[in-house]
Amino acid sequence: MNATDQAASRADELYARYMGHLYGCAPCQRENYCPVGNRMRAAWKCAQSAAMQTYRARTERRQ
Ligand SMILES: [Zn+2]
Repeated sequence: MNATDQAASRADELYARYMGHLYGCAPCQRENYCPVGNRMRAAWKCAQSAAMQTYRARTERRQ
């Protein structure tokens, strides 16, 4: 598994965990917000942009 795949699967894992939280969290379902859900969404977004950066760094090096 390369760094891009690792970063992407980390983002997927955090997304799955966030979705799992949403499923069981009333405040998130009602208002799309709670401190826990917010933190999980931030972690997912962060992992997602890290994955994107890793991907970009790799494709730019190839050109
Ligand atoms: Zn929540």
